Amino acid sequence: MPGGIVILGAGQAAAQLAVSLRQGGRDGPIRMVGDEPYAPYQRPPLSKAFLKERPPADSLLLRGAHYWTDHKVELHLGTAAAAVDRTRKIVGLRDGRMFDYDTLVFATGTRARDLPLPGIDLPGVFSLRKIDDVRRLRPALDDARRIVIIGGGYIGLEVAAVMRQEGRDAVVVEAEDRVMKRVAGETISEFFDGLHRSRGVDIRLGCRLASIDGDDSRASGITLTSGERIAADLVLVATGARANDDIAKAAGLLCEEGIVVDDFAHAAPDIYAIGDCARFYSRRYGRKIRLECVQNAIDQAKAAADAILAKPKPYDPVPWFWSDQYEIKLQITGLLDGFDAAETIGNPADAKFSVEYRKGGKLIAVDAVNDGRAHMLGRRRIAADLPEVGGG
Ligand code: FAD
Repeated sequence: MPGGIVILGAGQAAAQLAVSLRQGGRDGPIRMVGDEPYAPYQRPPLSKAFLKERPPADSLLLRGAHYWTDHKVELHLGTAAAAVDRTRKIVGLRDGRMFDYDTLVFATGTRARDLPLPGIDLPGVFSLRKIDDVRRLRPALDDARRIVIIGGGYIGLEVAAVMRQEGRDAVVVEAEDRVMKRVAGETISEFFDGLHRSRGVDIRLGCRLASIDGDDSRASGITLTSGERIAADLVLVATGARANDDIAKAAGLLCEEGIVVDDFAHAAPDIYAIGDCARFYSRRYGRKIRLECVQNAIDQAKAAADAILAKPKPYDPVPWFWSDQYEIKLQITGLLDGFDAAETIGNPADAKFSVEYRKGGKLIAVDAVNDGRAHMLGRRRIAADLPEVGGG
């Protein structure tokens, strides 16, 4: 029997790929190998409503349980892929099984970035990327009065918002001089900094960490290189993610902190990579990018499906992303690549405004706060201003 399509990873991008392949009329085996014990689920609520409202894990599933059996997509869950033999076209799983493939797709996502710090392995130190992380974190949060969050990116701030809504003390420790520096412009950082402080979050900027403190039983706080000690009942590390590209690298694929793919999500003959684990050249922005957002997981999976179905369409997105903090929705579209002008539209004091970023007169990014219309228009206007693949 031909090996069919094997998808490594069973997350957002893997799910969309399998769905698009079946919708496109692809028969034959599709196997998905996921190291988590869950069918494909959406990750964004983990740091938002799921953390706060504690619905059953089923509420996160991207498709009902029957979808996969009805569409003959085999899910092999709770087991990791360990190696790929490209010559024999075989994937070896950690549990010893081997699957042949005709087409192999990496959809392995990201993992929390290592933070080499004394005390990082103490009980009471958590990260947040998976359902099982929330399962461990949530009861510990319930017992905590004061938490320290390392990292003032969107995940750290979303958790800080939930903590304040529950009446817990939250300290956010950020190495940069402003929060969300990697994804948003200064006006947006200022707005969210003010928002969190007004709700009682203790934000510390420009901090370097010396250690996480505690004893064998639990973490009890952190120490900064300045010598200052910040006590905590629990420490959450939210310092970003790195691509799961180790297996691809070991199989000889080109990886640059992300599996390098072309406009069609193609990494090598009969091998694709999609979603958070893939890096590709954006003609719109003139550099290779690796995106960590649902939009990219879905749209790049669709592009890979089109290519596998022999209807290739180049993929060169205007990326977009959202974050929910308290009652505020931030929507970010485009990339802040070397903008030379920024214009704020509306008044941040009204908690409804947007910021437009231009480079050489062209709109390259729009950050919108509680302004869905500005976000939608921004996406269209950036697409019009920046040429896409083949557009010049
Ligand atoms: P994932 O959904 O991460 O799936 C990859 C899967 O592959 C994982 O289950 C992983 O464990 C598995 N895997 C890895 N290695 C192996 C292996 N060797 N064998 C088998 N399986 C393996 N995006 C937004 O746009 N908006 C948001 O508000 C937002 N909030 C987020 C909040 C949190 C807490 C997190 C963690 C992410 C958030 N994201 C958000 C990002 C978004 O969830 C990701 O961009 C998206 O899930 C990427 O899809 P993916 O399929 O590439 O990877």
